[in-house]
Amino acid sequence: MRYISTRGAWATDPQPFSAILLEGLAPDGGLAVPLAYPRFSTEELAALRGQGYADLAYAVLSRYIGDIDAADLRALVARTYTAATFGSPAITPVVALEPGLALLRVSNGPTLAFKDIALQLLGQLFEYVLAREGRHVNIVGATSGDTGSAAEVAMLGKDRVAVFMLSPRGRMSPFQQAQMYALDAPNIHNLAIDGTFDDCQDIVKAINADAAFKSRHAIGAVNSINWARVAAQVVYYFAGYFGATRGNDVPLDVAVPSGNFGNVLAAYVARAMGLPLRRLIVATNENDVLDEFFRTGRYRPRAGSETHVTSSPSMDISKASNFERYVFDMVGRDATALRALWTTLARDGEFTLAGTPYWANVVASDFHSGRSTHADRVQTIRQVERRYRRVVDPHTADGLKVGMALRDPSVPLLCVETALPAKFAAIIGEALGGVVPERPSAYRDLEARPQHATELPADAERVKAYVAAHAARAPAPAA
Ligand SMILES: *Cc1c(COP(=O)(O)O)cnc(C)c1O
Repeated sequence: MRYISTRGAWATDPQPFSAILLEGLAPDGGLAVPLAYPRFSTEELAALRGQGYADLAYAVLSRYIGDIDAADLRALVARTYTAATFGSPAITPVVALEPGLALLRVSNGPTLAFKDIALQLLGQLFEYVLAREGRHVNIVGATSGDTGSAAEVAMLGKDRVAVFMLSPRGRMSPFQQAQMYALDAPNIHNLAIDGTFDDCQDIVKAINADAAFKSRHAIGAVNSINWARVAAQVVYYFAGYFGATRGNDVPLDVAVPSGNFGNVLAAYVARAMGLPLRRLIVATNENDVLDEFFRTGRYRPRAGSETHVTSSPSMDISKASNFERYVFDMVGRDATALRALWTTLARDGEFTLAGTPYWANVVASDFHSGRSTHADRVQTIRQVERRYRRVVDPHTADGLKVGMALRDPSVPLLCVETALPAKFAAIIGEALGGVVPERPSAYRDLEARPQHATELPADAERVKAYVAAHAARAPAPAA
């Protein structure tokens, strides 16, 4: 499999997987996408049902990773997806709530959110490729709460990697903040930015747009624009489908709490690969840019100042970076048309697909959407606890709220549990009358540990100066 950019780069020179692994953006500012989505035949799909998670992961990922030796890739995947790291041999277990309604639990990794599924793999892939090529990388990323800790834990102590993680100061839950800032390792740098997640993401984009800086400091990315993350997430939709259905002739709807559109994009890719998913339901919180798009055809990202701080903070995103990959497909993979839309976006702050020839593709893609508010989350957490004796986190509650509202009784619904409630104690206490969510023993004294972060203004130049001063450098050649 080779990769092109959504904006046209590499069209005549598609890149191998290893070339796009460490990068966020293509040189033209677009995102790497595979030349096509490989499709499993009916027979192949039948053979996948019943396979263990690591085998499933190998089956999916080997279609996207053509330049890592097959035996090595199998070993990397087997080392990543273990019961020791993810809490159970199923890795992403499906639990039924009632007939026709189930949860896909993808949040049982080391940092208690689904980001671990992809980032634990990325840690292994980075180490492998960097060692093979004698390189090092400085990861510059932005987090709205969960990517940061998942990336830092995945890269902890890896000697060819340094991590510079930008987080919006004071906008994460105390647990999320402590999960990152309490890490104390020379290759981990927490940068607390005076701004929103979107401001952090804009700084990362600005750094990536500076080609000279990027190559001088070997800048890499682990943000959700990283294709390898999307590919890793595709795997659990296969596991989830097989866990929630009895045969491959059963359609399944999925509801996904969404922010940067990475998780639900993985569901879309899984469906394109032949998995019999039907509707893809996008749940947003009060930051409802994606809901507005799917309802009206108008894509209108908001400024950082218009982004609400909510009780599902990992979805407080108003510029869904992965959305460009989806739009690329909707315009028939025409990079010129895609570029024209993004030019309009830069000029007018929005574009509209309704009323264009592309809208039929959007409708055919069978995305549905809805929005959830703080009151909805509180009510959903309460209802789920009463009905099913299960405490869900606020993001999962957004997904359940929207999923239930759009549920079609004739088709089973799988809702993705994106984090564990331990990360968001305040809203759990509010919803359940002071109940403190269970937390794994490793996290018992988390907030009491000393924290390490450097405060910086939302200014790309200041962040660059910090990165330049603290970057990992190529190891000296052996004497
Ligand atoms: C990251 C995150 C989301 C949003 O996922 P996207 O892939 O950005 O759409 C939702 N819930 C939780 C808990 C998250 O950490």
